[in-house]
Amino acid sequence: MLEVVRDPAAMRARAAAVRAAGGRIAFVPTMGFLHEGHLSLLREGRRRGELLVLSIFVNPLQFGPAEDLARYPRDEQGDLDKARSVGCDVAFCPSVEAMYPPGFQTRVEVPGLAAGLCGQVRPGHFAGVATVVLKLCHIVQPHVLLLGEKDYQQLQIVRRMVADLDLDIEVVGCPLVREPDGLALSSRNAYLSPQERQQALALSRGLRAAEQRYRAGERRAEELLAAARQELIGAPGVVLQYLELRDAATLEPVAGELDRAAVLAVAALVGQTRLIDNVILR
Ligand code: AMP
Repeated sequence: MLEVVRDPAAMRARAAAVRAAGGRIAFVPTMGFLHEGHLSLLREGRRRGELLVLSIFVNPLQFGPAEDLARYPRDEQGDLDKARSVGCDVAFCPSVEAMYPPGFQTRVEVPGLAAGLCGQVRPGHFAGVATVVLKLCHIVQPHVLLLGEKDYQQLQIVRRMVADLDLDIEVVGCPLVREPDGLALSSRNAYLSPQERQQALALSRGLRAAEQRYRAGERRAEELLAAARQELIGAPGVVLQYLELRDAATLEPVAGELDRAAVLAVAALVGQTRLIDNVILR
């Protein structure tokens, strides 16, 4: 039975009761419009906790003024059906007013990790993410927090926050889930026209080209970037925002030869839709 909880106090009480009985809580925070990427996190969470909690909250704090908050895709009924299908116990779906009552002003900043990549293009975004994840964790009280490697920078920022603020939570990063043709699953794919959907494949093609070079033994950062760039520069309908190779743990730029795990991350506009993708080279 999937329980839908909207009131933060009720969610907190539900979590406290499970904890008091010795149960482990696994938590998957999302903005809804669930797809197989989200469901893979929920399935992993199902294995790791007695109580599996999903949150659905389109967090205004992480959207810039010119971004897509108002038109972000929503389908609560569909989401609840999908959550049920993977054995989720609780869907926490708070209102904006419940999360951010009048007077709310606190922000959690992880400035170093948030400085580049998406943080550069979306100022304030990761403070919004860190703040809502911390709030949600205080409400849901998870033992295990599951996040996708699709949002790689977000994952590293949450890991840092959890360590820095002494949260007693295990953070689990789950692999990026793709469509059969390579497109990274994203709620924002719903914005794409059929033509843009085809054009968007340039992102995963570029990453795959670099990954193949890496698998073949190439370790020079410039060569790996060039392999990806070749698919991305001049790809019709694709406006590149960044293509960067970063240390997989610290997100510091990698130059010269790769001697440890790295992430090759890309962000691009396809039409009006901003897409991100990455591949981990390890
Ligand atoms: P969102 O609803 O976009 O905020 O995403 C909620 C969670 O699902 C985040 O931890 C994302 O990293 C994760 N996620 C989104 N898309 C994917 C995907 N294609 N593969 C794996 N995880 C994903």
